[in-house]
Amino acid sequence: MQYPEPIAKLIESYMKLPGIGGKTATRLAFFTIDMDEDDVTDFAKSLISAKRDLHYCSICGNITEEDPCQICSDPSRDQTKVIVVEEPKDVMSLEKMKEYHGLYHVLHGVLSPIEGKGPEDINITSLLTRLQTHPDMQEVIIATNATPEGEATSMYLSRLIKPAGIKVTRLAHGLAVGSDIEYADEMTLFKAIEGRTEI
Ligand SMILES: [Zn+2]
Repeated sequence: MQYPEPIAKLIESYMKLPGIGGKTATRLAFFTIDMDEDDVTDFAKSLISAKRDLHYCSICGNITEEDPCQICSDPSRDQTKVIVVEEPKDVMSLEKMKEYHGLYHVLHGVLSPIEGKGPEDINITSLLTRLQTHPDMQEVIIATNATPEGEATSMYLSRLIKPAGIKVTRLAHGLAVGSDIEYADEMTLFKAIEGRTEI
């Protein structure tokens, strides 16, 4: 017996999410059918709104409703420092710490020869333009994850940026090798920023 079309489609949609296989997708689909209609409507609306109302900030690449984002358009932020991260969710993690008041730049990935990702595939050009047009910028803090790709990206950026006379630092490795910023607690992140070293 085959599932009725609406369930089959729902299962198919859930399977497009990362880490969700057929079994989990089926469980989620049947769970959805049992949910209150209002909750399902809210869920569907938030999916559409997240996609339709959010954009990437044209300056830093973070996700935002308004462009430029709140951080880029806030003059009280320290305009001399920028933290370079892999993904928008890393900005959220660092902001939760409430100890850093500088700017951010989101790469949307890392250099990865295996996946065929070169410098032109991530948000590097806009970082360089930003540094050139902001004479106040004194330090670029590289906070890519402690993976081989994250390290290679860090070295690549350092070689590009240092000749411009801007200090380049890397987060201290209080973060375990291979660990993601996303999963680090606030204290660990704070120590990693405090203990950053010049590269
Ligand atoms: Zn921004």
